[in-house]
Amino acid sequence: MPHDLVIRGGLVVDGTGAPGRTGDLAVSGGRIAEVGAVSGRGAREIDADGLVVAPGFIDPHTHYDAQLTWDPSASCTSWHGVTTIVTGNCGFTLAPCRPDEKHLVVRNLERAEDIPAEAMQAGIEWTWETYAQYLDAVARWPKGINYAGYVGHSALRTYAMGERAFSEPATAGDLAVMKRELADALAAGAMGFTTSRTRNHETADRRPVASRVADWSEVRELVQVMGDLGAGIFEIAGEDTGRDLDRQRDYLRRLRELAVETGVPVTWGMFSSRFMPDAWRAYFATLDDTARAGGRMFAQVHSRSLAVVLSFETRLPFDRLPEWREVRQRPLDEQRALLRDPEVRRRLVKAAAEAEYGRVVGAEARKPDYEWTMLMEDPCGPHRSIAEIARERGVDPVEALIEVALERDLKAFFVQPLFNENFDDVLEMMRHPRSVVTFSDSGAHVSQIMDSSLQTQVLAYWVRRRQALTLEEGVRMLSLEPASAWGFHDRGLLREGLAADVIVFDPDRVAPEMPEVVNDLPAGARRLRQKSTGFHASVVNGHVVLRDGEHTGAYPGRVLRGPLATAR
Ligand SMILES: [Zn+2]
Repeated sequence: MPHDLVIRGGLVVDGTGAPGRTGDLAVSGGRIAEVGAVSGRGAREIDADGLVVAPGFIDPHTHYDAQLTWDPSASCTSWHGVTTIVTGNCGFTLAPCRPDEKHLVVRNLERAEDIPAEAMQAGIEWTWETYAQYLDAVARWPKGINYAGYVGHSALRTYAMGERAFSEPATAGDLAVMKRELADALAAGAMGFTTSRTRNHETADRRPVASRVADWSEVRELVQVMGDLGAGIFEIAGEDTGRDLDRQRDYLRRLRELAVETGVPVTWGMFSSRFMPDAWRAYFATLDDTARAGGRMFAQVHSRSLAVVLSFETRLPFDRLPEWREVRQRPLDEQRALLRDPEVRRRLVKAAAEAEYGRVVGAEARKPDYEWTMLMEDPCGPHRSIAEIARERGVDPVEALIEVALERDLKAFFVQPLFNENFDDVLEMMRHPRSVVTFSDSGAHVSQIMDSSLQTQVLAYWVRRRQALTLEEGVRMLSLEPASAWGFHDRGLLREGLAADVIVFDPDRVAPEMPEVVNDLPAGARRLRQKSTGFHASVVNGHVVLRDGEHTGAYPGRVLRGPLATAR
């Protein structure tokens, strides 16, 4: 019997971190059949000479809940070597939800995760009420990727409380409904329970999302449900402790106690910040304190800075200033012509420099800091600031911004880093023994932040350009480490008998591409799309889903259910 597929003559980097070895990999029946020298032929063969053969990457922090209903390929994530995602992070899920209360779920997701409501209305066919029904629906959909999901607090809360979820504490009755639904979701295969307590997560009308209305005792009781069942992970988008050290200590103490008391693994995403350079260290110290006290806690970190992406094709910080609005509401061709007119330009530069941003533009828009507004010249960064470019050219920063945009046919992207500005911190956090490199937030923030290329950033920047990680370390960070932390024990490694999730890439070329602005969401809504170069093939459960960056039309992805469901 020939194998279904043989990947021949590649450098096999197996996910453990051990040195890569040249060899073959055979796949049969969706599983890895042999690794090493494979003598038998494959019904299909891939020549991997000069290429790396590695386990498909796993990204446990995504928000594909909505997108997966209209995009079975899970782009952009799948373009960056990812073959398994976990979704439903930060309290946001599409279930449980009654058919007539969809608007409450959409309200939680829309602004907090920047997924257009009209795309969700047009794109999602709601055929479920309970979480179990939802997972069964996902299992039926074609998927180019393996999918695991948490159940989210905001959904549980709106399910139990309706409109009251956005304003009131839960009664004993409400809490009983939430606990029952949570236990049912875990039994159906949810990976765990997630919540958000950060002020960043608001509804479109600027109110807190439902989970934020809960007091800590509600969170504790829900996490205890997992503790009692002995299964599930708790993910939290944490409280904003800012510079208040007392609040920070209080929050971290509560987290530690929760992990120790319930025995449930606790996880959260962490960035460094130029405004509070050492804050992340206190959080990371809590990881070690928790371990010493007998609990389990791990951080989720990113591989570069998190940044808002601006461009003339999307939005600029000046768009709402009257002088700018006049120009910006026109088609791009007309904007181009106007921007070339020295008189118009002088007016725009003056307006941008003198505007009272807070009053005219609204509380959230501050005058741009041009030292921290960068021109994206390559996708990996770090990037040069507009201030530096302006000094070089001897012009005002706004003039420089317009010039470089015109030189690139208005397709230039500008990035304003929000977090992780210091790449030394980024590397230190990635290397910490209690961190996992994930936190891409893919599927969310689709119009303004570009972070789903986290995996290709590791390979192109940290491995190849900086040589701060070996190829084997980089692959391990993206495969075995998340697989172990989330309990995907038959993935994340190239070993006989494990699921055949395999990627084949060129180690000298693999990289994220520059982003582009596209209108490919349901109802024509806009998003940033970022592809990659250097991937030769992606294999999911033994089937080739991507070949040279193009989808093959195969959808062999599965729902990966959590431990309680698999034990049934
Ligand atoms: Zn998130």
